[in-house]
Amino acid sequence: MIYLDNAATTKTAPEVVDAMLPYFSEYYGNASTIYSLGAESKKAMDHARRTIADSLGAKPEEIYFTAGGSESDNWALKATAEAYASKGKHIITTKIEHHAILHTCEYLEKRGFEITYLNVDRDGLISLDELKAAIRPDTILISVMFANNEIGTIEPIAEIGEIAKEHGVLFHTDAVQAYAQVPINVDEMHIDMLSASGHKLNGPKGIGFLYIRKGVKIRSFVHGGAQERSRRAGTENIPGIVGLGAAVERAMRIMDSKTRKEIELRDYLIGRLENEIPHCWLNGHRTKRLPNNINFSFLFIEGESMLIMLDMKGICASSGSACTSGSLDPSHVLLAIGLKHEEAHGSLRLTLSEDSTKEEMDIVAEEVKKIVQRLRDMSPLYEDFLKSQKNN
Ligand SMILES: *Cc1c(COP(=O)(O)O)cnc(C)c1O
Repeated sequence: MIYLDNAATTKTAPEVVDAMLPYFSEYYGNASTIYSLGAESKKAMDHARRTIADSLGAKPEEIYFTAGGSESDNWALKATAEAYASKGKHIITTKIEHHAILHTCEYLEKRGFEITYLNVDRDGLISLDELKAAIRPDTILISVMFANNEIGTIEPIAEIGEIAKEHGVLFHTDAVQAYAQVPINVDEMHIDMLSASGHKLNGPKGIGFLYIRKGVKIRSFVHGGAQERSRRAGTENIPGIVGLGAAVERAMRIMDSKTRKEIELRDYLIGRLENEIPHCWLNGHRTKRLPNNINFSFLFIEGESMLIMLDMKGICASSGSACTSGSLDPSHVLLAIGLKHEEAHGSLRLTLSEDSTKEEMDIVAEEVKKIVQRLRDMSPLYEDFLKSQKNN
């Protein structure tokens, strides 16, 4: 099997699983108790919280554990909206956010908030001038993703943070794809809130965190016990938290070598696909791009058909409509960068890991080439296209 869908989820690293196991069977105490079994859990949780805080240049008390990226995004937006509603009801985000942000924004719109959705250019980058122009006296929050999950484009986060700070507006970033892939410092980048998720960085599923800068007025998201400084109640998921901490420690340790390797393989495969397959192009910015992301559009092709045929060859990949599988809507991200519906439908996303190899890239290049040819041979649209070319 060749696994190239690391933007959807990653393999839990063996050292992460090893770190977690004792917290199921041996140290299973509730971290809120006073006997020493519970204290072991608390100690492990404190260690994970410090590891995560250090990775961002944050303080441990600014890290709140959640059940993952979606919950962190929901919390950041809903709680800010509620806590700052007296100042204003305007929020700025982008057209290419993950649905955890976009659907939360729709929810807030129904409750009287006004949302500005910033455009992006052909590469998926927002315009800083458009951002500045969108800020109003009643703007309470700017939420822009660090890096896009489909096309891999990395937004100018430090510049956005600077603008938010100048205007006294809070800045949240969905860093689920970028965290542990690119260096992040919340002070240097003026980030007030940041969402991250364990299973996107070789940690376990169902655990993540929200960074909330000290001083930001934030409301409780889950009411109940006093866990997470009374902001997010519920007995802590200690094995998950330990796993997340171990995954972050590992990701920070290998970031440099992983990035170097992925970029080399990424650009090699991009080059092969571009040079060897006609009527296709790379989506997303060529260099302001996640080290592991490749996203192509192939004309006259259905992405879903390509995925099924790749699966038969043991290759796991994703397409522009995979996130909303079950729905035939093309990706909102690919439409936002200006692709036509049929161009968005013919997209393929390949996301590498540190385990990816050059041999795998070669196999994938060959298979994609064959599949594209096979599908085009069956396509009436392609036949029409060839005829029209001959007639010219
Ligand atoms: C995966 C992802 C999420 C959701 O994270 P979960 O932990 O799966 O809830 C949010 N935003 C982005 C950009 C993602 O890639």
